[in-house]
Amino acid sequence: MIIRIGKAEDNDYIADDIYVSRYHARIGRDDTGNLFIEDLNSSNGTFVNGNRIMKKKITTSDTVKLGSLYTLNVTDALKFDNDYSDEFALLKSVYDGYIKEKIRVQSSNQFKTRLLQSIPFAVIGVAGLVISFFRKGTSGNNGIIIISIILAICVPIIGIYLGARQSAKIPELLHNLANKFKIDYVCPKCGTFLGEVPWESLINKKQCPVATCRAKWVRK
Ligand SMILES: [Zn+2]
Repeated sequence: MIIRIGKAEDNDYIADDIYVSRYHARIGRDDTGNLFIEDLNSSNGTFVNGNRIMKKKITTSDTVKLGSLYTLNVTDALKFDNDYSDEFALLKSVYDGYIKEKIRVQSSNQFKTRLLQSIPFAVIGVAGLVISFFRKGTSGNNGIIIISIILAICVPIIGIYLGARQSAKIPELLHNLANKFKIDYVCPKCGTFLGEVPWESLINKKQCPVATCRAKWVRK
């Protein structure tokens, strides 16, 4: 989180005072979550509880002045936090994970389909071997011939049926995957679905295109 404060229009928090610089200071959080204020080489300085500072840890109860006159209400300034760059960065793994999983579902199911369809033929091959083995010992066993004919007809049908059932699962799995993606791949502030657009393309937009949101996706 970074809140840029100053007189210029493109700050997050505009402090309009003659002693406030265009880009006066910024409020952020350090790695442990503590608030700090940092002076951006302002002309008239930033003061915390009366002491001029360059960078200092603050709480909302500290008295912060920009220049000699302008008192900054830290609680108010925090409401202008529009920096969602940390949350946005996490969406990269959401997008990459979705694409990877999509490819996995498609390829693994194709493999299973083929496997299930080929197993019956292997069974027939084994059955054929067994039949020829027994035929050497006994002269003409009609029972085994009948069983092998039944196998030859029924087993491939079952295999094709199982294979078809397996591939019928693909649309459902992909549908569930797409639904989850629509929930996860959203603007971290307004929750608008970002579409099936690569994260690398979105980051070029720098901020949410929704007019009422405009969350910053990339820190300046
Ligand atoms: Zn948004």
